[in-house]
Amino acid sequence: LAAALTACGSSQKTADTQATSSEAAAGNGGALVGVTMPTKSSERWIHDGDNVKASLEKLGYKVDLQYAENDIPTQVNQIENQITKGAKLLVIASIDGTAITTQLQEAADKKIPVIAYDRLIRNSPNVDYYATFDNFKVGVQQATSLLVGLKLKTADGGDGDAKGPFNVELFAGSPDDNNATFFFNGAMSVLKPYIDKGTIKVQSGQTDFKTVAILRWDPATAQKRMEDLLTKTYSGGKKVDGVLSPYDGLSIGILSALKSNGYGTSGQPYPIVTGQDAELASVKSIIAGEQYSTIYKDTRQLAEVTVKMADAVLKGGKPEVNNTKDYDNGNKVVPSYLLDPVIVDKSNYQKVVVDSGYYTQAQLG
Ligand code: BGC
Repeated sequence: LAAALTACGSSQKTADTQATSSEAAAGNGGALVGVTMPTKSSERWIHDGDNVKASLEKLGYKVDLQYAENDIPTQVNQIENQITKGAKLLVIASIDGTAITTQLQEAADKKIPVIAYDRLIRNSPNVDYYATFDNFKVGVQQATSLLVGLKLKTADGGDGDAKGPFNVELFAGSPDDNNATFFFNGAMSVLKPYIDKGTIKVQSGQTDFKTVAILRWDPATAQKRMEDLLTKTYSGGKKVDGVLSPYDGLSIGILSALKSNGYGTSGQPYPIVTGQDAELASVKSIIAGEQYSTIYKDTRQLAEVTVKMADAVLKGGKPEVNNTKDYDNGNKVVPSYLLDPVIVDKSNYQKVVVDSGYYTQAQLG
């Protein structure tokens, strides 16, 4: 920025900017921002962390970026450490959205603002802003793409040729992640009429969020549940036609349970399996005709929105938000910025994830 100012011929250099480093010239004095992410076990959070860190650093901030491998006490400690180290703002993608109330109170006592990243932090008044994707819409898109895959709907929203009935099993995300309920409710808003009509049959009878939720989004737990479903419900010759899966990692577990039960051959193709995050392995699986679809959420955009929010707050301003009604955290409605998710399947992956530069063609093999 200093160079830019000079290049523009600006004469507005103050004694302050002249005397200090380029960080101060960037207008924020190199303040420390604490960023906590849930886990490195899923690629998306690695991208998120990298993008947020790089963009903050570009603006001259210092960044402490931490991952907690889905362990709540670890994340609690990381946040506490960041407060102790003098962080001026916290960006938190929580593991359990209700488990960090004490730390947030500490932050508030020290006037450290908090931005919830991707996942809403619940039951605390000390959450200033929320940056995320439209989580209900993610669920609507997952279910819509399941219907398109089953040919109950066409991609442009019309009725498909198929009549059903189809056997579909449902999975949901981690019950302590506020997003999981939004995804599931969004999906059920689309699927319920089909279930009520009998066009979609959930043969296991398991349609309740709590019953189908997978703690900590663990792929192995999803694989085990799919195996149990196949043994208990489908051993008599019934076939699974579709699986609502809320996250690519779970989809991989689900597909592998299906594979060990004879699915994935020409005589018995895989059911329509959805996902989320456009993780590399799942985009490859989509290209290979295994997973049917995923939901692309451009983590670069989310990082950009979050960093803009952080910068505005740190400069004493008000960040841009576009939703002030949907995200009640049990204590207050948190002003939010929602980004748009996009359905990806074999027909559009090139355009959506390659042409946008999210992946290179070489990465997809
Ligand atoms: C995120 C999803 C992700 C899931 C599992 C959710 O909170 O919004 O993008 O698939 O966590 O990591």
